[in-house]
Amino acid sequence: MMDTPLTLVSLIERAEKYFSKKEVISRTHTGIQHFTYEEIGKRTRALASALKKLGVEKGDRVGTFAWNHHRHLEAYFAAPSMGAVLHTINIRLSPEHLTYIINHAEDKVLLIDIDLLPLIERVKDELTSVKAFIVMSDEKELPESTLSPLYSYEQLVSDGDENFEYATDIDENDPAGMCYTSATTGKPKGVVYTHRGIFLHSMALSMADTAAISESDRVMPVVPMFHANAWGMPFVSTMLGATQVLPGPMMTPQIIAEMIDKYDVTISAGVPTIWLGLLQELEKGIYDTSHLRAILCGGSAAPKSMIRSYETDFNIPFIHAYGMTETTPIVTLARLKSYQTDLSEEERLDIRSRQGTVVPGLDIKVVDENGDEVEADGEAMGELLIRGPWIADEYYKDDRTKDAFKDGWLYTGDVVTIDNEGSIKIVDRMGDLIKSGGEWISSVDLENTLMAHPAIFEAAVIAVPDPKWQERPVACVVLKPDKLATEAEVLKFLEPQFAKWWLPDKVVFMKEIPKTSVGKFLKRDLREIVNK
Ligand code: ADP
Repeated sequence: MMDTPLTLVSLIERAEKYFSKKEVISRTHTGIQHFTYEEIGKRTRALASALKKLGVEKGDRVGTFAWNHHRHLEAYFAAPSMGAVLHTINIRLSPEHLTYIINHAEDKVLLIDIDLLPLIERVKDELTSVKAFIVMSDEKELPESTLSPLYSYEQLVSDGDENFEYATDIDENDPAGMCYTSATTGKPKGVVYTHRGIFLHSMALSMADTAAISESDRVMPVVPMFHANAWGMPFVSTMLGATQVLPGPMMTPQIIAEMIDKYDVTISAGVPTIWLGLLQELEKGIYDTSHLRAILCGGSAAPKSMIRSYETDFNIPFIHAYGMTETTPIVTLARLKSYQTDLSEEERLDIRSRQGTVVPGLDIKVVDENGDEVEADGEAMGELLIRGPWIADEYYKDDRTKDAFKDGWLYTGDVVTIDNEGSIKIVDRMGDLIKSGGEWISSVDLENTLMAHPAIFEAAVIAVPDPKWQERPVACVVLKPDKLATEAEVLKFLEPQFAKWWLPDKVVFMKEIPKTSVGKFLKRDLREIVNK
């Protein structure tokens, strides 16, 4: 058959051609703006022409340092469609990591949100490859800044060529994007996405048995566009002409709830801490969320109690998914099979709070330390391995490639069980498993149960060194506002649900659990706090 390349150009051109009237709704620093795909299409071409004028060539990296809004979306397509590589930079990185990744990726141009300029100004003298800075703001006027040369995004777009022809020499295996993992230890690791990988990932997200994203959806990615392509939402939504609702800078649970309500959002995506926060906001009972057909949740384990609250208290269907920066990111998704729909509510919830079955196009296996596949009995633990057309096969110019990519598989570092339905359950990240007296304790299981306690808002469980048992679990707990619980009450709540030796030695009450740049519990910092 015809060997036509699977590139991102076809995604944006499809939106321009067939969905010109459909909308992108964008919250920026000054308010909410509406654009049609016709306008987004023209602006994207104009931006691509401006990048070309600035000297961006095929394969050059174009960095973005921005929230979720229409300009970021335009960059998502302008850079790859002119043959360059979109490098989304995590805005919450430390100055050291920021400098490291911009220099390591050799970004030629940086597109920066106006409120984030100071973060780049702080490191500008260390940057070795950047030839031009572009400020993304609603105004054409340039702000005061020490960055030079500095261009205005809106000026470039209005001076650009809205009929610019995209590159025709793109190979589907050419790089289209890159993102660095938010490394919890050591330096961040770069992952390169190809046109083909992102294209196929977009197709996968639109299948009825996965996220079922379609033209009729109104998609709101809460997961940042600077992290793992906002789980591919901007790409698949543009490909299908779905309405996009981009929630902009500094989003709070209130802003998220208001946007879901006002713009009739049908599907949203984000990490569990976002949804825990939103639950509290929804309890005010003032929002209409009736259009939401799915919340897509991943990045860390979604507590069963949270899934139950969304579905029974608010009638909002919840989909638990699993993935990594290295996997573009979707890998598995928890949905009921047709013959599981008659199971009891509890059994169905159990299935749906697992990480689920692998999406079409990918292969997984679960292996023990000898590399042998473990029994698919829901009990035996092993490391999850993944392969497929949207799975990275190396870290960008990085020696650590050899540790994670072996024999054609990505070694995830995630310890899982797999049941006889092929559904996986994450037990822990390798470094977070607690080894007590020669047996493993899953911090994730304890956390999920703790978060079902009516007074507990968030909980993270970590290992502390123990002279007798090697390690013992300690629970770090944040109570809901106006709720009280003692250590004894919390332990009593866990008691009937776990073997005695699983129970944490201590419950530490905190005001807040430290989080990573993408909102996951930062266990490294917790260990330091608790071990002090
Ligand atoms: P980082 O490694 O910095 O957290 P990623 O966002 O790439 O960056 O995280 C991928 C990791 O997140 C996975 O390896 C896994 O440990 C965890 N993860 C992702 N989704 C889930 C999920 N649904 N349940 C539990 N853990 C998850």
